[in-house]
Amino acid sequence: MSSTLYIHLGKILNNLNAVKNKVGEEVICMAVVKDEAYGHGILPVAEFLKDKVEWFCTAKLDEAVSLRENGIENEILVFEIPPVGREQEYKSYDITASISDLSVFERLKPDTKAHLHFDTGMFRLGMLPDQVSEARQKMANHPLNYTGIYTHFANSDVNDHPRVKEQLSTFRSIRAEFPDALMTHTANSGAIFYYGEEDLYYDAVRPGVCLYGYAPGEDEIPELEPVIEWKSNLVQVKKILKGEMVGYGSRWTASEDGWIGVVPVGYADGIFRGLTNGFQVELNGTLIDEVGTISMDYFMVFVTGQKPDIGDEVVILRNKDLSANLWAKKMGTIPYEITTALSPKIKRVYLDQ
Ligand SMILES: *Cc1c(COP(=O)(O)O)cnc(C)c1O
Repeated sequence: MSSTLYIHLGKILNNLNAVKNKVGEEVICMAVVKDEAYGHGILPVAEFLKDKVEWFCTAKLDEAVSLRENGIENEILVFEIPPVGREQEYKSYDITASISDLSVFERLKPDTKAHLHFDTGMFRLGMLPDQVSEARQKMANHPLNYTGIYTHFANSDVNDHPRVKEQLSTFRSIRAEFPDALMTHTANSGAIFYYGEEDLYYDAVRPGVCLYGYAPGEDEIPELEPVIEWKSNLVQVKKILKGEMVGYGSRWTASEDGWIGVVPVGYADGIFRGLTNGFQVELNGTLIDEVGTISMDYFMVFVTGQKPDIGDEVVILRNKDLSANLWAKKMGTIPYEITTALSPKIKRVYLDQ
């Protein structure tokens, strides 16, 4: 086994409780478990959360069907536009469809559960504000089981962004055109934690990245803690002398004598090659530098002082100095991309703590 991802489910619960503390117990939690629960593994995460949240949200119909086939009975909202030809599955599996386009109304089977999705300024999925009256007409003509209405923010990862308020005000006027009974939701992690004063929680919230322990934006959220711990072991240890160079392209030169440890994890596992010479791991309780170009299946670390042993444990990702947040900053990306890039081939071990 070249490395193992430990998924600390108990930390998901702590993160969920941070959401609940923020939004209040009356607000429904729709846990977003799309894309293998942001790389953590959709089935074990959903199994753990099923009696702790009311709803799950997935990106794809396939993910929702797989939850059903694995015994998950919570309500499930699918974000994608229903794939043409598969409308019956929403009905058969009791899955809630998103109506993000006027063309979807007539495709869905009668009585299918559906949430209307309005685009209030992101220009990704969703019906536009000037399609409200057409949407109302279609609702009247197509007897689906309309149960909700929602929108999605483009800028809620940034504190106090004026576009969030604009989108919210657009959504408020749209919302007023539809029956009161529809369950209403707008908030992703950013809106939950950065916009608590804006009265945007409505009936339900859709937390995603915060459940896995990461702040959605630059502003840290101290209550959250990363859920994954990625560990490996040194497979080779060798002496290196000052002036010798490590890895493809010889992009790192030893500035003093020491030891090189070889870790059997590379970019094929999900450590971006762009992190080369740019992150640290923990070895025997000490932070040490990754050195030399990250290759497909290996990276190297540099140790001075006492020689490490073959088999010594290396912690690649955890929290604080070993957080995916740091990697994201180095790579000019967000933790979402780091955890979803963790290869499905890495062994995952689920722990309650
Ligand atoms: C991914 C997604 C979410 C969750 O977003 P986070 O930023 O991870 O909380 C919520 N709603 C929609 C429509 C999404 O696509």
